[in-house]
Amino acid sequence: MTKKQKKVLYRIIAASVLLVVLHFLPVSGMLAFALYLIPYFVIGYDILRKAFLGIAHGQVFDENFLMAVATVGAMALGVYEELSGGEGEFVEGVAVMLFYQIGELFQAVAVGKSRRNITALMDIRPDYANIENENGELEQVDPDDVEIGTVIVVQPGEKVPIDGVIISGSSTLNTAALTGESVPREAAEGDEIISGCVNLTGLLKIRTTKEFGESTVSKILDLVENSSMKKSRSENFISKFAKVYTPAVCISALVLAVLPPIVLMVFGRPANFPTWIIRALTFLVISCPCALVISIPLSFFGGIGGASASGILVKGSNYLEAMAQTKYVVFDKTGTLTRGVFEVTKLCPSAALLEEHHGNTEEARRALLEAAAYAESYSGHPISKSLKEAYARTIAEDAALAMQEERKEAIQTGQVLQPGRVTDAQEIGGHGVKALVDGKEVCVGNAKLMKSLGLEYEEACDVGTVVFVAVDGAYAGHIIISDVIKDGAKEAILGLKAAGVKKTVMLTGDNKTVAESVAKTLGLDEVKAELLPADKVEAVEALLAAKGAKENLAFVGDGINDAPVLSRADIGIAMGALGSDAAIEAADVVLMDDNPAKIAVAMKIARKCLRIVYENIVFALAVKAICLILGAVGLANMWLAIFADVGVMVLAVLNAIRCLKVPKN
Ligand code: ADP
Ligand code: MG
Repeated sequence: MTKKQKKVLYRIIAASVLLVVLHFLPVSGMLAFALYLIPYFVIGYDILRKAFLGIAHGQVFDENFLMAVATVGAMALGVYEELSGGEGEFVEGVAVMLFYQIGELFQAVAVGKSRRNITALMDIRPDYANIENENGELEQVDPDDVEIGTVIVVQPGEKVPIDGVIISGSSTLNTAALTGESVPREAAEGDEIISGCVNLTGLLKIRTTKEFGESTVSKILDLVENSSMKKSRSENFISKFAKVYTPAVCISALVLAVLPPIVLMVFGRPANFPTWIIRALTFLVISCPCALVISIPLSFFGGIGGASASGILVKGSNYLEAMAQTKYVVFDKTGTLTRGVFEVTKLCPSAALLEEHHGNTEEARRALLEAAAYAESYSGHPISKSLKEAYARTIAEDAALAMQEERKEAIQTGQVLQPGRVTDAQEIGGHGVKALVDGKEVCVGNAKLMKSLGLEYEEACDVGTVVFVAVDGAYAGHIIISDVIKDGAKEAILGLKAAGVKKTVMLTGDNKTVAESVAKTLGLDEVKAELLPADKVEAVEALLAAKGAKENLAFVGDGINDAPVLSRADIGIAMGALGSDAAIEAADVVLMDDNPAKIAVAMKIARKCLRIVYENIVFALAVKAICLILGAVGLANMWLAIFADVGVMVLAVLNAIRCLKVPKN
């Protein structure tokens, strides 16, 4: 509990004790009224103040106003009874205020607790980075001040503050806060490392590759902090509803207090104003909308929190709402369903290139790979990374043979490609790359690229993804690479079917043979291959046009050549670890561990959350409607009104807290 909440608790205790004492004191009349005013002000002074300030600022109709009118009215009625010779009741006015405060306190504690839970889950913000100074001592600096390329030291037990590459040391990393995955991951020299992981065992030296503000940690925190700004339809509905509802209730109460007595008077019967005023006040207390106003945002907040604990970042409650109605899931292939880590399986230099190397196949193959790797220098495509890595490995083997220790170290830190050899590199989406390497134009890409450049090329010598290479306008050979389907991709598709998804589709820029074999292995309903980024948008547009109004389409991609589709779909889901920054920005949902099986989990969380929201809406409105009717005809007293308000709120909040728990199956 915070200090403020403790203070409210003490006031609740004080007012309750005073009420009990007064109950047993033999006081009556105006003295009783004066004495009851003490607990009334102890418990209600802040509500009265807020109501008064609200009126002064022209924002009349809120919960504080409802409570103030109801309780002041009840007290005033007591005084009226006393003055007209009867016996006044003052307990009710105080009790309404007391229970309202109990409900508010309960709600504040519950909300605070779930908020803390979520921030604890997201406790990934690093406070400092360690840098070694000239004397070899570690110095703690603000991560914001660390420049790209600086070497930082991460000791066991510390969080990795900035993204980078390990240059020395090896360790196990706990990535639970990022991915929800509890199995630690091994990391060694040369590995890329993302910020937000906790270093468990060894000392790591990391050369940073990004600034703090661009690092994974900062990106994620931004996402989570901004997620509450995007409101779901249910939330918007409730805030609009409250705006209309509260004045409507106040006016109805006024009518209820005045109209029936006047009508009775007209017909010559006793008007009985006090009875009708009590009914009107009861009506006011019953109709307080706090159960909905509080429990609905809390439900969504819980759902988003539960999702982030399992490595699924949802950027707003509107997306959670949309996830619940997903009927079509469209996938990208490379990096989404496949691991995006290609193995070079065959290097096939052209006859011309072979001749250039005097028939030395090894040398020609090396030249082919070298040209491709250099041309791909500036690309972030999975294919590009694989080619560069394959080239780095051959160089490393050479260096090992020649015992060039220095060179070996450079290779392990990823500096194989000599800068300056590549000028003017250009990436052509869905085709490949084009660059000047040593002044020669090298084109690397698929058959489409070769065709668009009007180059002759050989048929591929094997099955797999084919990368054609052309140097100075002449075909120089091709490289066959193959990718592996992600573990769990098949289960992901089955899981989606089980969760009620009607159709799964794969869109890819890769060739038909590869695409069809992947689709068949995974059991996808439809596959479209050899698509350019623009074709992917078109394919998604067609699916969007064909689906029903209440059905949503999700696109899952890694953002490489598919960022436009991510933002075009009803819900864009991006791979967070492998995906590009553009993807994480364009997407509505980010899967931190790149596991497509999390999509079905996200759908389950969304559905559970929405079910709870509807339960609360129906339950609260039904109880209130019944009590309102009973109140209007005089069958409900203040005590029932208090249950309708505070009781319903407590139950709704308890129900909403269930959203935090992620459904297992
Ligand atoms: P996917 O839809 O499978 O994710 P992309 O749209 O990213 O594939 O790429 C489609 C095709 O374009 C690839 O299969 C490859 O043939 C070619 N391509 C794209 N970028 C590159 C690159 N940097 N180097 C070589 N080929 C590339
Ligand atoms: Mg892709």
